[in-house]
Amino acid sequence: MSKIIECHKVNPSSDCAHVVRGRDEEELMQNAEAHAREHGLEPTPELMAQVRSYIEDEPERA
Ligand SMILES: [Zn+2]
Repeated sequence: MSKIIECHKVNPSSDCAHVVRGRDEEELMQNAEAHAREHGLEPTPELMAQVRSYIEDEPERA
């Protein structure tokens, strides 16, 4: 099952509608790191550990 992180849940003040997706946790975290850089954030281990806690399973589509 694919994994997602909703950017606005990690950082509500960003008002960002982006949803980071990955086929597995490794790919997801790589994409999340790239997205953090788009926000001008340095993807430190501390930041990425925080981001990791927001991982959700992608809802099944009907
Ligand atoms: Zn974002």
